[in-house]
Amino acid sequence: KSVIHWFKCDTRIMDNKALHIASEKSRMHGVPLICLYLVSPQDFEAHLTAPVRVDFILRNLQILKDDLATLNIPLYVELIEKRRNLPNRLMDLCGSWGANHVFCNAEYEVDELRREAMLTRTCLSRGVSFNVVHDTCVVEPGKLSTGAGGQMSVYSPWHRKWCAFLNQHPEQLELSPPPAPNPATTRDMYSELFTCMIPEAPVSKRLSEEEKAKFHVMWPAGEHEALDRLERFIQQRVNLYHDNRNTPSANGTSNLSAHLAAGTIAARTVVRAARDAAPNKKLTDDRKQGHSMWIGEVAWRDFYRHVLCHWPYICMNKPFKPEYSNIEWEYDLDQFRKWTDGQTGFPIIDAAMRQVAQTAYMHNRCRMIVASFLAKDLLIDWRMGERYFMEHLIDGDFASNNGGWGFSASVGVDPQPYFRIFNPLLQSEKFDPQGDYIRKWIPELAEITDSKAIHDPYGRGFGQVARKNGYPRPMVDHKISRDRALARYKAGIGRE
Ligand code: FAD
Repeated sequence: KSVIHWFKCDTRIMDNKALHIASEKSRMHGVPLICLYLVSPQDFEAHLTAPVRVDFILRNLQILKDDLATLNIPLYVELIEKRRNLPNRLMDLCGSWGANHVFCNAEYEVDELRREAMLTRTCLSRGVSFNVVHDTCVVEPGKLSTGAGGQMSVYSPWHRKWCAFLNQHPEQLELSPPPAPNPATTRDMYSELFTCMIPEAPVSKRLSEEEKAKFHVMWPAGEHEALDRLERFIQQRVNLYHDNRNTPSANGTSNLSAHLAAGTIAARTVVRAARDAAPNKKLTDDRKQGHSMWIGEVAWRDFYRHVLCHWPYICMNKPFKPEYSNIEWEYDLDQFRKWTDGQTGFPIIDAAMRQVAQTAYMHNRCRMIVASFLAKDLLIDWRMGERYFMEHLIDGDFASNNGGWGFSASVGVDPQPYFRIFNPLLQSEKFDPQGDYIRKWIPELAEITDSKAIHDPYGRGFGQVARKNGYPRPMVDHKISRDRALARYKAGIGRE
């Protein structure tokens, strides 16, 4: 007999609800706890998982496996060619390990919900209890509602409820302890599981050796790293978050997104740590205070997951607002490539697109600027941008990415109004006033020390330098593209 914990996007030991419950169950029954991670290359393809993220996941698994082994808990990892075979393979493993309890944390995307529903039925028919636990959100989806009992679709009032709920129910921020020693879980029982190797990434998602060397230094994996990052951020930077968060050249944010997306740290853990360090030790919507502001950003992650649970059609390439389905988008691949390659001639856009190409990460302010540029200045279907981000980000996360694109393209939940069109030049001057971010990512412009010209070299007397170094002219005239976008959005949504 045994109890299984099935890891998914929760590859950590600390503060993992389902793992904790599985561990308690196994101790109560005096049977071993076995941990499992099953993945199919087809999942990576279907979810557009970036190779750098696949590599990150596999590195996290190695660290997790080593840590679990110190507790005498085996982690068995298997790559399954066809994802439809995953449920049967799970049942086979239950059979061979004599497991009649399987625990896992819930994922809310449609494919995953369907798979879990099917597994619940299959397990029932075989006398195995299949337990799906709410863990990834700080507040469980469905807990906060409008007066009429529905899901809220506007962030600010939702956020006030979120804070009030957690202040009233501080137990929701209790951390789940790691698995406790279990005399029934010994190394000799399943020695082959302790020695199994973490598989290599599928060929289509494999990094080159050079990329590995770069990204392994840039993005250290594992939950210890995530906890260290959190501690450094809380000690050194969170109190200034409200001032620095919008400056892409400053190290003003936590850089925890890759870990939150992979589940090497729980959102609950980070919110609790920030709350405990906050001056008033409460959750508030005070946007002038670093801790509250930062917790409010982590809350966006919950918000987009709640939205996903309630309106699952957003997983099906549909805009949240049905009336925005008729906007006529462009599909100009040359223009799209200029955007992806950081060759638009708008320095702030190009710096950001080169940041993501080189580091698999982009600052939040820049994500909004480049997304607005693609959807509004170029009128290119926002879903092409959403897809490109997923294929390249180390923190690619369906709900947050879809939410961010929906916001910026004005087709999502609680979006930027469609007539609010970022002016890339003004955004650049406001959020990169000295041009440090631009100089960092665009070597062609690095010699321009003038803090005005750097944002618009051709328009401000430095065209020769830009041309000499091969930096292009702006690909569109923002004023003209702005008018075109307004007209196209109005026509699409049928508004004068
Ligand atoms: P911090 O500012 O330190 O914030 C802490 C955490 O809060 C983040 O790690 C993240 O988990 C969460 N968070 C912060 N802002 C948001 C937000 N607007 N929406 C949802 N969660 C948020 N975030 C992702 O994790 N994955 C994505 O694929 C993703 N795609 C995006 C696409 C677009 C177009 C936009 C506008 C935003 C996107 N975001 C995404 C949100 C945000 O840009 C990143 O979470 C943030 O830049 C990560 O850096 P950080 O960890 O230093 O964030």
